[in-house]
Amino acid sequence: MKISKKIVGYAVAKPADANSQDKNGSDIASKTEGTKADVIQMHEKLERPNKLIGSTYKLKTPDHVSEHAMYITINDIVLNEGTENELRRPFEVFINSKNLEHYQWIVALTLIMSAVFRKGGDITFLVDELRSVFDPRGGYWNKGKYMPSIIAEIGEVIESHLIDIGMLKALAPSDEQAKLIEEKKAEYRAKGAADAAAQSATTSDTDEPWMATASLCSKCSSKSVVLMDGCQTCMNCGDSKCG
Ligand SMILES: [Zn+2]
Repeated sequence: MKISKKIVGYAVAKPADANSQDKNGSDIASKTEGTKADVIQMHEKLERPNKLIGSTYKLKTPDHVSEHAMYITINDIVLNEGTENELRRPFEVFINSKNLEHYQWIVALTLIMSAVFRKGGDITFLVDELRSVFDPRGGYWNKGKYMPSIIAEIGEVIESHLIDIGMLKALAPSDEQAKLIEEKKAEYRAKGAADAAAQSATTSDTDEPWMATASLCSKCSSKSVVLMDGCQTCMNCGDSKCG
């Protein structure tokens, strides 16, 4: 077949389509489009609305990692608003920092993350990918949590945002576990207070008394795993291993 006109669009005819034997190609295209036009899915061709709702997170790493804070803004798009198919998804991400040392990788990272957001489909893998990045110079501690790198901490921020908008479920202990953990925490705090009174000066750089002897949780990266009734249990997320 000779194409005499400029191609301005195309559609792939699916074999399952009942009208696939139709000689008129454009007819098939308009019919398949009509069946799925009602629910809008995330798509890279989706036009950016003038206004998006967003959240800005402040990320403050210890001074030796970066003396300036980073501000991570994630803007969301709401698809099919007001219908049963309403869906809030991240659309773009920006990171601002005074620290120009990190400028080029931050720009690259935000461009790629935004592109992944706009592709649609499952984007939660980004969290695991970012969290697995480690800095060969060594990670750092931030609020009792071990961060293998700044990028990993950006992954944590993305994760908390996805939990906020309902795309990810929070890693939380069960009610029963939470009660047990609180009891154990109270026990440690009472003991910690008594020890501190006896020694007057503590060299601990940790926030909570159990952190001094706790080991790192493989699930939530928090230094919160202690022996509880014979089981290694994380005081943060409740992950527990016996034996
Ligand atoms: Zn944990």
